[in-house]
Amino acid sequence: MIELKTPGEIEAMRAAGRVVATTLATVRAAARPGVSLLELDEVAATVIADAGAKPAFLHYHPGWAPNPFPATICTSVNDAIVHGVPGRSRLAEGDLVSIDSAAVLDGWCGDSAISFVVGAADPADLALIETTERALAAGIAAAVPGNRLGDIAHAIGVVARAAGYGIMADHGGHGIGRTMHEDPHVANEGRAGRGLVLRPGLTLAVEPMFTRGGLDAYRTDADGWTLRTTDGSWAAHSEHTIAVTEDGPRILTLA
Ligand code: MG
Ligand code: MG
Repeated sequence: MIELKTPGEIEAMRAAGRVVATTLATVRAAARPGVSLLELDEVAATVIADAGAKPAFLHYHPGWAPNPFPATICTSVNDAIVHGVPGRSRLAEGDLVSIDSAAVLDGWCGDSAISFVVGAADPADLALIETTERALAAGIAAAVPGNRLGDIAHAIGVVARAAGYGIMADHGGHGIGRTMHEDPHVANEGRAGRGLVLRPGLTLAVEPMFTRGGLDAYRTDADGWTLRTTDGSWAAHSEHTIAVTEDGPRILTLA
């Protein structure tokens, strides 16, 4: 079922989105060579708690996962694409880090992800990140009343393929509201002009996940959560929560 949100509910989601934006900015500022992923997770937990919110990922247990997610944020480093479980490993110069954060404030969710390189970067990794951000912007720009879900998917997918990147299979964006994951699924590749008609009040998480090696395939770590490329190439992930409004797309997870 797809629940359209009222303007007041979208404002409530904007407040949750602000918490997520602050979390990501604070984690990014703390991410330096030598810092462990668990330390970044603690930074995120503190920001979310100080805002009076709750992390949506902590204890999240979808049917496909063997165990509940054990942390506040997902930390996906280098060949990890998404859902990386923060552990004791420490960041090193040149690592490509994707941080995914979702929080619940007053019963409403925000969900956003950023990718960045720690320290000196390989220009090809920066290009990968810039391309996911550009695809995210293109997908968001297509989220206007009267367009269809396929227009968002198409806008994202063509950016990835033009750059020769892979698009992670079986994963994409989603509806969001009182819970982190709601209908509809928002694919990262598709046919323009197809699918659900976008209406004001529809709130979506849009999230391209691209791989440098050009493969769409992924594999799952023994932890049951961390998803990696099959060829060892590095991946990037960019996400915003948005609302479709009469005035166009509104990003709810900006700082
Ligand atoms: Mg997310
Ligand atoms: Mg999401």
